[in-house]
Amino acid sequence: MTPSHELELVRYRDLSPRIRSFECRSVGRARLEFEPGQYVSIEFTLDGAPCSPCYSLASSPGDDMVEIVARYNEGAPATRYLWGLRAGHRLRVAGPLGALRLRGPEPRASLFVANGTGIAPIRSMIRWLVARGGALAMTLLYGARDQTDLIYDAEFVELARQKRDFVYKVVLTRPLSGWTGAQGRVQEHAARVASARSGVDAYLAGSPAMVEDLRRVLEAAGFDPGSIYFEK
Ligand SMILES: Cc1cc2nc3c(=O)[nH]c(=O)nc-3n(C[C@H](O)[C@H](O)[C@H](O)COP(=O)(O)OP(=O)(O)OC[C@H]3O[C@@H](n4cnc5c(N)ncnc54)[C@H](O)[C@@H]3O)c2cc1C
Repeated sequence: MTPSHELELVRYRDLSPRIRSFECRSVGRARLEFEPGQYVSIEFTLDGAPCSPCYSLASSPGDDMVEIVARYNEGAPATRYLWGLRAGHRLRVAGPLGALRLRGPEPRASLFVANGTGIAPIRSMIRWLVARGGALAMTLLYGARDQTDLIYDAEFVELARQKRDFVYKVVLTRPLSGWTGAQGRVQEHAARVASARSGVDAYLAGSPAMVEDLRRVLEAAGFDPGSIYFEK
């Protein structure tokens, strides 16, 4: 049976006009143990109906707080519930769940590709790898609609500034004026970034269409299908 945990919301903040972060701590002594890349389902009742939408953990297991990020979806149950939460509210979550996790026991050079809130599990993995230390080549290809939709951007820019072996590339589908970076879908840029290297693992998170397309792109670029990790 999936374990169930009670979390207390410590604070929330808007990371973009449409995406809110919720930072929580465990209630009681048992911490929520998880691996970077995993998710939880938040369990609540709305208008008498039980709901259990899934949210990836954006924090790393080493962080003090458990963080999730949620996209605002006007009128949808999870949005109505989450946007009604205030500091001190308690949430019941089931988890950890999911098969997206870092290859073990020794992670290898990695290509991370995310779009939308798919950046959450990828951020968890990158934070965990950085905290672990050691040299490890990492490339992050992050797709979003426009500049306002990017979350954790400053964190990744700073990481790329500090670590020579971390390459960060953003691709926007509908950039606002002033954008000089890459434009289009991440799928269209992945082949260039990914140019088949053996010994590289790829981690994909985001819309199902992106994940499906990317698997094809990476396999065509010579990636071993067994080295491509994603959540179905
Ligand atoms: C493994 C996994 C990880 C995920 N991680 C994240 C994450 O980190 N962040 C994130 O934001 N999302 C994440 N998602 C996606 C998230 O779980 C879904 O978007 C989830 O369905 C949101 O629930 P919802 O209630 O907002 O909307 P929905 O699932 O679209 O709606 C649920 C029900 O409400 C109805 N409904 C929908 N919209 C309305 C409306 N406007 N008015 C009235 N009724 C409506 C629907 O018809 C449906 O019956 C993840 C999904 C998976 C599978």
